[in-house]
Amino acid sequence: MHTISTVAEMMALSQRWPAGATPGLVPTMGYLHEGHLSLARAARQECDTVVASIFVNPTQFGPREDLSRYPRDLPRDLALLEKAGVDYVFTPDASDIYPNGFACYVDPIGPLVERLEGASRPGHFRGVATVVAKLFQIVRPQRAYFGQKDAQQAAVIRQLIADLHFALTLRVLPTVREPDGLAMSSRNAYLSPEERQAATILYRALSEARKLVDAGEQDTDLLRATLARTIASEPRAHLDYADVCDPNTMLPLARVEPGQAALLVIAARVGPARLIDNFLRHPSGGWDGEG
Ligand code: AMP
Repeated sequence: MHTISTVAEMMALSQRWPAGATPGLVPTMGYLHEGHLSLARAARQECDTVVASIFVNPTQFGPREDLSRYPRDLPRDLALLEKAGVDYVFTPDASDIYPNGFACYVDPIGPLVERLEGASRPGHFRGVATVVAKLFQIVRPQRAYFGQKDAQQAAVIRQLIADLHFALTLRVLPTVREPDGLAMSSRNAYLSPEERQAATILYRALSEARKLVDAGEQDTDLLRATLARTIASEPRAHLDYADVCDPNTMLPLARVEPGQAALLVIAARVGPARLIDNFLRHPSGGWDGEG
């Protein structure tokens, strides 16, 4: 495995990807866990060359968010990626991605980025779309791997690929969970033992709502109320939003009809951590993300 720490070096490499090669890209912010590694392993199976990036992207953090305390452990990350069979790890500096004079952002607009994470984190998806577009230009992957854990992000990237004509395949893989259901996240490191226990409330709330849908409940107001009430039952958890929406547009659904895709989605604060989670219901009625 090779570590590449400059944009120039990464571009020199990607410009020489042979014709017919299938380079795969796994973008991350590091402090890796099994969720990230599931993406790296899928890329290893599906691509002839695997590039993982580790970059804590400053432009996707708000001024009062956790950029300065975001957890980092590069030596451990490199060991895990090597074991997962990654070929190249791209670890650029912020000053290389955003040099002095940087002026061109990719700024998604419209309903897709106005609700949920977009409403709670103004500018977040501008930062995400900008850095992902840059990574696509720098690494020139044929396939790019993202997690369903960040459902709205996946929808934004799908739109980015279509709107900017990136010639690559988006792969969105299921959420990897701890044995008690908590979605793996680098931010789980912020939790005290008591908060870690309380954090399972997101999974429990989603499971309650899923049970209702599976029993034939179609009324999304009732489902939203179930999600909110379950979160409220845990005193250490504070709900940001709970919604039932279309997984492609992120617009709220009035009903969950048979044969319709639906996303149950929650954001809540537990102690110092802001956590998100979701369950994706496929049109077939099967679910992604229940663990
Ligand atoms: P991050 O390092 O948080 O920016 O995440 C990098 C990638 O890993 C994103 O595509 C995430 O959606 C994905 N990811 C994060 N947590 C999980 C998880 N628990 N299961 C699957 N994918 C995940």
